[in-house]
Amino acid sequence: MTEWNTDLIRRYGDQGPRYTSYPTALQFHEEVTADDYWQALEHGNLARRPLSLYLHIPFCQHVCYYCACNRVVTADTRRADEYLKRLLRELSMKAERVDSQRPVLQMHWGGGTPTYLSDAQMTELVYHTARQFHLLEDDRADYSVEIDPRTVTQSRIGLLRGLGFNRASLGVQDLDPRVQEAVNRVQPYSMIEDVFGWLRDFGYRSINTDLIYGLPWQSETSLARTVEQLLALRPERISLYNYAHLPARFKVQRQISEQTLPSADEKLRMFSRAGEMLESAGYLLIGMDHFALPTDALAQAQQSGTLHRNFQGYTLHGDADLLGFGTSAISALGTFYGQNQKSIEEWQSDIDDNHLPLERGCLLTLDDQIRRDLITTLLCQMEIDLEALSQRWNIDARQYFGPELMQMNRLVQDGLVEFDWKVLRLTAIGRLLARAVAMIFDAYQKDGLKRHYSRII
Ligand code: SF4
Repeated sequence: MTEWNTDLIRRYGDQGPRYTSYPTALQFHEEVTADDYWQALEHGNLARRPLSLYLHIPFCQHVCYYCACNRVVTADTRRADEYLKRLLRELSMKAERVDSQRPVLQMHWGGGTPTYLSDAQMTELVYHTARQFHLLEDDRADYSVEIDPRTVTQSRIGLLRGLGFNRASLGVQDLDPRVQEAVNRVQPYSMIEDVFGWLRDFGYRSINTDLIYGLPWQSETSLARTVEQLLALRPERISLYNYAHLPARFKVQRQISEQTLPSADEKLRMFSRAGEMLESAGYLLIGMDHFALPTDALAQAQQSGTLHRNFQGYTLHGDADLLGFGTSAISALGTFYGQNQKSIEEWQSDIDDNHLPLERGCLLTLDDQIRRDLITTLLCQMEIDLEALSQRWNIDARQYFGPELMQMNRLVQDGLVEFDWKVLRLTAIGRLLARAVAMIFDAYQKDGLKRHYSRII
């Protein structure tokens, strides 16, 4: 069990990247080219790496006031028609260059709200994907979809299951009606309960839910009530995100009155209490803000050392090449990262001109690759075996990371890590603050960059 030491959390819960990639997206630049993308894709073909597909649907019916996503709020569903047309073309454009034998072990629809699409549009999208890529039909792969509970019915949940989805991710955020109203996302508990029931009835393997702490009118007690209600539904995975109030950057957040926001101390208490409740209920802390039941594949992958991390967070398929489709979607192909155009107009116009809709990205140097290995291993396995790292990269890791490892003394004294110059291991509280430890090994981390990131906790 984690010792929820609020003093340490306060000291180390500073701003920092989530490390869904290393280098992080802040290092992406516009010098990358379509040739870089196609070459990286070809390397994956030669290495016969499996695939992970990410499809971004940027539309939402209503806006949530805490939103910091790249999305378009519109009731005009014709925009989705236009978008879908191009999405199908992007799928074809990339599929043409992919070895059709490469199996798709993971697929994720995110947004926005993927369930903004109509039943017919969702069906067309899956059929088109299946014609272009080698989707697995025996339910072994992980195909997940983000679900806004307000946009689904029993039959839609059934349809999505029939189309091959076996995991669902549900934005719950908070179950208190007053909080829901203040963030313009009203979805009563009975609605969430219904969706859970349908997902279970149709045999979805795993349900992931997101909670947010730090929202207007939330308190330690109110969040504890939300957690208690959610625990009754027993989702396999629960993520506990910190709300970062940045109205200067995200205009819609100006709808939230600052007076209604909980204080930093209250947020700390909320996070600690919620975390304690989850652990007492049998959930394991996977790392940072992710919890999973011991029976869930994520927890099992962590135990067996096969857990990975990519742009979708913790994943079971880190060895797969990630292909992103739609506005702002990121592809991670071996040692190349590439992000699609963020603006819908530019993305659409690139597709119409038959161009790869690439906006920016980066090619990893050898140093980037070594540091990526260290950081993702630390965040997934919660420890680094320096000997094994040395062998993988033909370096002396103690020497290579000499200055960084010298800084571990302070973290040992504070109880975040255990370190004997052979293995660096995160303690229970260190798992929560893993980003702070990872940042020490980040060559790009400078104080000036910190303001771009949300607080760790
Ligand atoms: S559903 Fe998600 S993407 Fe859409 S407005 Fe709400 S938070 Fe933003």
